[in-house]
Amino acid sequence: MLTNDQLNQWDRENFLHPSTHFGQHGRGESATRIVTTAKGCYIEDRDGTRLLDAFAGLYCVNVGYGRTEIAEAIAKQAHELAYYHSYVGHGTEASITLAHMVAERAPAHMNKVYFGLGGSDANETNVKLVWYIQNVLGRPEKRKIISRWRGYHGSGLITGSMTGLVPFHNKFGLPMSEVVHTEAPYYFRRPDPDMSQEAFSAYCAAKLEELIEREGADTIGAFIAEPLLGTGGIVPPPAGYWEAIQPILKKHEILLITDEVVTGFGRLGTMMGSTHYGITPDIITIAKGLTSAYAPLSGSIVSDDLYKVLEEGTDKFGPFGHGWTYSAHPIGAAAGVANLKLVDELGLVQNARETGAYFRNAMAAALKDHRFVGDVRGDGMLAAVELQRDPGARADFDASEKVTAQVVGEMAKRGVIARAMPQGEIIGFAPPLCLTPQEADTVVSVTRDALDAVT
Ligand code: PLP
Repeated sequence: MLTNDQLNQWDRENFLHPSTHFGQHGRGESATRIVTTAKGCYIEDRDGTRLLDAFAGLYCVNVGYGRTEIAEAIAKQAHELAYYHSYVGHGTEASITLAHMVAERAPAHMNKVYFGLGGSDANETNVKLVWYIQNVLGRPEKRKIISRWRGYHGSGLITGSMTGLVPFHNKFGLPMSEVVHTEAPYYFRRPDPDMSQEAFSAYCAAKLEELIEREGADTIGAFIAEPLLGTGGIVPPPAGYWEAIQPILKKHEILLITDEVVTGFGRLGTMMGSTHYGITPDIITIAKGLTSAYAPLSGSIVSDDLYKVLEEGTDKFGPFGHGWTYSAHPIGAAAGVANLKLVDELGLVQNARETGAYFRNAMAAALKDHRFVGDVRGDGMLAAVELQRDPGARADFDASEKVTAQVVGEMAKRGVIARAMPQGEIIGFAPPLCLTPQEADTVVSVTRDALDAVT
């Protein structure tokens, strides 16, 4: 068996981790937790430390860890057929079954799915779908994509550009010129504290319309947005937001992509986040919750109307020239089938709604008198605590104080994993959808203790 020292040395010498300060890691100034096993909401590392994972990995292990039903489905698939592609004329039982199960769970007007591997590549596919469709419709100039500041849509070239978080643009020369950003519906940061939610939604809609007019509606192909801002700070939309945004898109013939990589398959306490907020998208991005991360798989769900255009396009111009070797990978698809069955059998959508509400209420109650807590928010099984030096004066901490990182560090010492969100002083929570009220209580009390310890 390899020693911890050996692994730590190889880790420092050979492994470039994602979104990591390479220098600190390579010099051994930051430790790597080597995770070994996990069950339910808990992970365990090589030192034998057991932690309650209140972020479900990267908000993806929705059914919880160690589900034998999914492990067995993966093993069976690997034994029988580890791989076959799904290019022209081929498919597998798992991938076809999963396509059907996704269509059953998608909004009624959406019945076709194009599979990928992760959320980023699915959003790349979406941009190409938009460009192709606008071309087929005879509107080739409609290429620009509008996304929102604080949105997260991936780390590729165009997806990293659509991502509206500054740390993901740093020194890459992003965003690409085909991407433009609009106002984030971040009610906590509204320009005027006296603004109602509805007034702020109207303000965001007016900003969107201004941008469309400035850029020219005839140059804009699509608007992409998460139903609820995730990585940007777990920010639910203010009242009236989606009602105000959608008619503007319709008026200017701009397609709507809802990025449901986080919200798809139950996280908001409804099967899809689009339905939850009354959104009627043209394309939906899915990933994480599709397989609960037991294997990589993503997808782009396309509306019936858009599919007609795709059909017309391929009839006229030949096959849709886009695909990955691993599109609809059978192991991912087998994991997806077993995972979606489990979500239903265990009633996890309902648990996300009920235990999620219990968790968020308990968090708000436990922190309401804390002098550095500016906001406690969330929806379904998603919550965030935003910290400020003086919430009454809307005064922020200095970023160099790294308050949230310290709190999250203290929480880990007390056995709970939360996430310091990448921009701002925001502690994020996205536990597995199987969280129990007792586990929720643990997360809440550890959060309060850690906050008290740091501040
Ligand atoms: N879209 C959203 C909303 C996400 O939260 C993420 C990842 O967190 C992505 C896209 C990118 O997915 P991936 O990291 O699988 O490429």
